[in-house]
Amino acid sequence: MFTPFKNELYVDFSQPEPANKMKAALDLVGSQLGRTYPITIGGEQITTGSIASSVNPALFSQVVGLTPDATAELADKAVLAAAEAFKTWSKTPVEDRARYLVKIAAILRRRIYEFSAWMVYESSKSYLEAYADTAEAIDFLEFYAREAIRWCAPHPTTGWPGEENTVEYLPIGVGAVIPPWNFPLAIMAGMTMSAVVTGNTVVLKPAEQSPIVAAKFFEVLESVGLPAGVVNFVPGPGEIVGEALTGHPFVRFVSFTGSKDVGLHIYQRIATHQPGQKWMKRAIMEMGGKDAIVVDEDADLDAVAADVVASAFSFQGQKCSACSRLIAHTGIYEPLIEKVAELASKLSIGNPVEGTYMGAVIDADAYARIHRYIEIGRAEGRTILDPGDANACDGWLVGPAIFADIAPQSRLAQEEVFGPVLAVLRAESFDHALDIANSTDFGLTGAAYSNKRSHIDKARREFHVGNLYLNRKCTGAYVDVQPFGGFNMSGTDSKAGGRDYLGLFLQAKSISERW
Ligand code: NAD
Repeated sequence: MFTPFKNELYVDFSQPEPANKMKAALDLVGSQLGRTYPITIGGEQITTGSIASSVNPALFSQVVGLTPDATAELADKAVLAAAEAFKTWSKTPVEDRARYLVKIAAILRRRIYEFSAWMVYESSKSYLEAYADTAEAIDFLEFYAREAIRWCAPHPTTGWPGEENTVEYLPIGVGAVIPPWNFPLAIMAGMTMSAVVTGNTVVLKPAEQSPIVAAKFFEVLESVGLPAGVVNFVPGPGEIVGEALTGHPFVRFVSFTGSKDVGLHIYQRIATHQPGQKWMKRAIMEMGGKDAIVVDEDADLDAVAADVVASAFSFQGQKCSACSRLIAHTGIYEPLIEKVAELASKLSIGNPVEGTYMGAVIDADAYARIHRYIEIGRAEGRTILDPGDANACDGWLVGPAIFADIAPQSRLAQEEVFGPVLAVLRAESFDHALDIANSTDFGLTGAAYSNKRSHIDKARREFHVGNLYLNRKCTGAYVDVQPFGGFNMSGTDSKAGGRDYLGLFLQAKSISERW
């Protein structure tokens, strides 16, 4: 019914045409900053007495937009609205549901520079990072539209004489969608619409740091006539709105992406049966990482250094897939550090509206946390590149930090920093490097560089991460090319943008009729 799925490709911002289109979009969005976007529940627009402003992290004086903070009562109202909408949405033919996603994707594609510009302002993404985020959102929509049709078609069963046996996949109910701020469009839209296209209805509580991008997406949902109550837009603090949603007896599943600590808290919370709750809540949890790039003694150091810098410092290291540990064979340890440091020291940093490679980190908390880890890095290792002490003027700017000779069990080697801080660890051999790589609680992404077949094969077998990259960087997964999600404390082993993902929002019904 639809043409086969293919990924949205990026543009090259060193070329005048994309660069000019982005500048025009930044001007357009710049003229729309400072507006207020309502809570929307069952189609009803609502405001509250508490209004939160979302500011440009690289320019404190610039308010990108405002949203009312929802309350626990409004979270309850939103769950009830979603439950009401579920009665009809769950019975809407899957082809009709899928068409909404394809239409939304078409609108995002037409407005790709504009949506990207919102992320340059609100999330301090570079032009390319913002564009990639919108492109990934389009991919999720297009891919899940096709996948839903496949999942909801009759599934084969083994024949049995005198009977007709079928298996159907049904939606499960009302979901709480709780995304992070770091892929404010792609992850938010992917989490929301994967649940919706499979026939569920949701309450979307965007991250506090990126509600405006979510509000712009919600406007698109309204513009295509998605029935009221299928997605309810409920911005507000996680500790209040998120807490009310995850504890609600009518919520059937929680789709969460965020930190390990919040993820574990939610996991425990949803395990507790609430009065009136008829089901075991399902959890789809994507959590943090402590991702490593392992480099063998025979690797091409120039190529590796460029990939390490891109993996560690693009979007200020604020990707769950970001390289935060460089584990280098002792034979190439010092020259590799030198090359990485040289490239990193040349990265431009500032307000990305001006076209810099790095922007600001997301907020005051992130800025303080990253500086705490820079202190730890100075104490635990040898300083290679130091962005200096905290001293924010107009924005939360932190340059790249590199610390070498970090011990595998030290804090900088074990804890997720979520910022532009790279720990470098020395390995005596490739095997030793893999042991170090596997020695954290996480297991999200990892890369290994080697020219030795036996080493690459060993990494294939033993590097225990959900997304393994061999002789390429550890960031930048494409939908259905590298389905994404981690092992261990990185989540519940799901794969966003993969062919088994939609099964997480469905339940199978076996129907047997005897003739
Ligand atoms: P976070 O855990 O602080 O917040 C995530 C979401 O949870 C937000 O919407 C927040 O409001 C909400 N929340 C906070 N407290 C809550 C509570 N008590 N109940 C319910 N909801 C609550 O994470 P973040 O800072 O937004 O995102 C960064 C983290 O996300 C990093 O750890 C990163 O590695 C991880 N991440 C993982 C993936 C992945 O695919 N595995 C992708 C992106 C980000």
